[in-house]
Amino acid sequence: MDIYFYNTLTKTKEKFIPINQEEVTMYSCGPTVYKDATIGNMRTNIMNDLIRRVLKYNGYKLKHAMNITDVGHLVSDGDEGEDKMVKSSKEMHKTPTEIAEYYTKLFFQDLEKLNIETPEIVCKATAHIQEMINYVQKLVDNGYAYVTSTAVYFDVSKLDEYGILSGIKLDEQKAGARVDVDEEKRNPYDFALWIKAPENHIMKWESPWGLSYPGWHIECSAMGQKYLGEVFDIHTGGIDLIPTHHENEIAQSKGACGKIPARYWIHGEFMLINGGKMSKSLNNAYLVKDLEEKGYDPLTYRLFTYSSSYRTKINFTWEAMEANQKALEKLRQGYKSNLEGNDNIEDEEISKYEDKFHKAINDDFNMPLAMSVVWDVIKNQKKSKKLAELLLKFDTVLALKIDKPFAQKESDIPNEVIELAEKRKAARKEKNWQESDRLRDEIANKGYVIKDSKEGYELAKK
Ligand code: AMP
Ligand code: ZN
Repeated sequence: MDIYFYNTLTKTKEKFIPINQEEVTMYSCGPTVYKDATIGNMRTNIMNDLIRRVLKYNGYKLKHAMNITDVGHLVSDGDEGEDKMVKSSKEMHKTPTEIAEYYTKLFFQDLEKLNIETPEIVCKATAHIQEMINYVQKLVDNGYAYVTSTAVYFDVSKLDEYGILSGIKLDEQKAGARVDVDEEKRNPYDFALWIKAPENHIMKWESPWGLSYPGWHIECSAMGQKYLGEVFDIHTGGIDLIPTHHENEIAQSKGACGKIPARYWIHGEFMLINGGKMSKSLNNAYLVKDLEEKGYDPLTYRLFTYSSSYRTKINFTWEAMEANQKALEKLRQGYKSNLEGNDNIEDEEISKYEDKFHKAINDDFNMPLAMSVVWDVIKNQKKSKKLAELLLKFDTVLALKIDKPFAQKESDIPNEVIELAEKRKAARKEKNWQESDRLRDEIANKGYVIKDSKEGYELAKK
């Protein structure tokens, strides 16, 4: 079945045709390991994992590289401010290596909790200094870079076009562009490839331009090319990377080999909180461990992200976590009751579900639609091992550990009561008030009260 997804480069939904049918090559911009990764960052990582899993569901093998930025990402996404690693190391009185190791470890622990697969290649910037120097040298040799007293800059005016991902128009921007910090820069959009280190700078390497350190964008070009070649299939990242980091990666690659490094560019939208940005300074940047401390299975958060397309913003709320925790338990209960079921299900019915699910995931990773198929399977009155098997197959994409035994708390509501509540919900939808009342009484006889709510109903012990 064909796969379609939205390509930021062409601004259309396109059919995916890999360079090599045998193996899809993919690059994801990974974390800057100077602080904890938030659940916002994790939304982007879940998206990356979903892409991987959908490709695998379609039979592809993967060669996926993700970088770890442990040098070069300045406090602004441009060329201003201190290196984030250096700043963090000063604040925490640790070496940049200690900081990087500490946060890299935490990052991978979070990935594991969210059932996110580790890419085939994980590459850190500081382990590729020579590759980066070679890349910058090539840009200088090709006439795309120039050296000033502070840095080696990429000259964007040398490109036939700059800004193809974000649609920046250089001519329009020039007049209004802010005053640049470095007067030696030729064009406002020129960016630093390599930065000469001040005397007391702690992260620096010998290079043709003296003791210095890389700019942020060069690592992805150098490592992408090293592991995946000059042109690979898919490049992913958060939406904030489009206007600077990814534009600059494209510029570098065009300067080095005349090619755009990836054919398909996939960008994930942000996770909001209270309708705005999630940030440490606003004290609203939650971490995976905060979810756990409040008693949520981290996969509840993963399920929550499936309520929207990866291309739309979602607003994080604890109410949503509560609802998704219940939904996750229901999914796992549904799997279990099918595993224990012996009803007869026609193969044709299974194929119909499978086809709908497959179409949904192949249509720009439409998870809300895919989840509606999963719920249809769960709600099937018949319970069968075939349906349990189907759910397990779907779970290779969902990664919700649907077969994980759910925690049986004393307060857990028995399945039979939930089933009665579901039947009552259906009766109410059909305006069959008599049946609805009868079911309420039956629920009451089992020791529970049912209240109608916006989401449907709430059950509580009498
Ligand atoms: P940062 O550590 O803030 O530089 O974020 C690393 C990457 O995670 C960013 O470049 C984004 O692509 C992604 N990211 C950050 N915050 C969010 C968010 N709230 N929702 C989704 N992705 C995010
Ligand atoms: Zn990158």
